[in-house]
Amino acid sequence: MSNEHRARKRFGQNFLHDPNIIDRIGRAIAPRASDALVEIGPGQGALTEQLVASGALLTLVELDRDLVSILQRKFSDQPQVTLFQGDALKTDFASLYPEQKLRVVGNLPYNISTPLIFHLLAQHQRIKDMHFMLQKEVVDRLAAKPNTKAYGRLSVMTQYYCQVESLFEVPPEAFSPRPKVTSAVVRLTPFDPLPCPAHSAEHLQVLVRDAFNQRRKTLRNALKAVASAEQIEAAGINPGARPETLALTDFVNLSNQLCPAD
Ligand code: SAM
Repeated sequence: MSNEHRARKRFGQNFLHDPNIIDRIGRAIAPRASDALVEIGPGQGALTEQLVASGALLTLVELDRDLVSILQRKFSDQPQVTLFQGDALKTDFASLYPEQKLRVVGNLPYNISTPLIFHLLAQHQRIKDMHFMLQKEVVDRLAAKPNTKAYGRLSVMTQYYCQVESLFEVPPEAFSPRPKVTSAVVRLTPFDPLPCPAHSAEHLQVLVRDAFNQRRKTLRNALKAVASAEQIEAAGINPGARPETLALTDFVNLSNQLCPAD
């Protein structure tokens, strides 16, 4: 634990201190001088130093004012670094460095990681790639395939927008204070163009949410309010199936069946 700052649980603060892990994450990101980087939750700058060393444009988004002061002291002599005190959930990432697609990185505060990923997916067209440290359980959900326990709304919507690569696990000892769970690093690379586009991403989003809200029910029952058994069948799907058996393409076909193109 640093002498400078007492970790705040409410901000999900678990600071990385293992130099081998920090180095491994840096190598996975492999930042270049021509990149436009955004780091979410830089904390005391454990990952930031490698990003700064690349010479890339870099925006840091940190919520905790005390940490912002520490970061200011550390990086004020680096003209390519911009420091924002604020909530990443409310940050308009799309407006940063409009000339370039962004590379977004962070050892994320675990309490907001899922809403943050949805917030970033909504801005997928502006993002080149994302490297995140998350709870391993969340990385497993991002990468999950159909017919597994981890497969759900987060898997389908992330895989709709991105290629997902689970890179490596990180034990609790790499952090201070130690989290209770194992962590993992994931790379998300937004597709451009989308390989399997829905007529309406909003409709797909709601359909997938409704389907997994009641994941033990059959599709016929879970989607009763929005789709008839005939409509489900017309999309080539068995209405008696459970939502977790459907591939991403099945959800897109069903969404397109219910919400025809203009
Ligand atoms: N990157 C540092 C490291 O690896 O040591 C810190 C990681 S710590 C898990 C998460 C960081 O996110 C903390 O610095 C915390 O203050 C910050 N944070 C928490 N909620 C945030 C939010 N809504 N927006 C931006 N930063 C946030």
